[in-house]
Amino acid sequence: MGRDTDYQKLLGECISFHGHLCMGQVMGVRIAVKGLELAATKDPRDLIVAVEVDRCLADAVLTVTGTRLGRRTLKLYPYGRMAASFLNTATGKAFRVHAAYEGPPAGDDEAAMRKILELPDEKIVAWEEIEFNLAEEELPGKPKRVVACGVCGERVFDGKDRPGPNGPTCPACLGTAYYSRKST
Ligand SMILES: [Zn+2]
Ligand SMILES: [Zn+2]
Repeated sequence: MGRDTDYQKLLGECISFHGHLCMGQVMGVRIAVKGLELAATKDPRDLIVAVEVDRCLADAVLTVTGTRLGRRTLKLYPYGRMAASFLNTATGKAFRVHAAYEGPPAGDDEAAMRKILELPDEKIVAWEEIEFNLAEEELPGKPKRVVACGVCGERVFDGKDRPGPNGPTCPACLGTAYYSRKST
């Protein structure tokens, strides 16, 4: 990464995966490249990325970094911000990178969007070293905890259960479900 980074090539890969060119792909490339440079992992398996939006940008970040939700190397914290953090699990060092540019975004103007790839880092992103507070259960590898929910009986992985009157209980049965049952 750095000066020799082929931003246009990376953007092409992002467009292939995501389906269109947009500010999310452009900013995702800029944030991901900067994050990879800062995290400086020697082995790509030492990288964990937290993305803060479940929109276009997230696809670019996973494409460029090679992290995946299903491999537990990509975490989603839907704060609605154009930002991502990059943890090097070998060194414990982590950095958060966010979009930071002056003036109106490029809109749908393709040439203007591509121009953003040529700006120096300081003109388009900001970053800082952070403490990445990641629970042991969130790391890749075999699940450290699997229990049966005392209410629904389904298996609950990775310490997502909480104590309840019927023993360990999944978040849905504790009343924080994204769905509700249809009454029959
Ligand atoms: Zn998009
Ligand atoms: Zn349950």
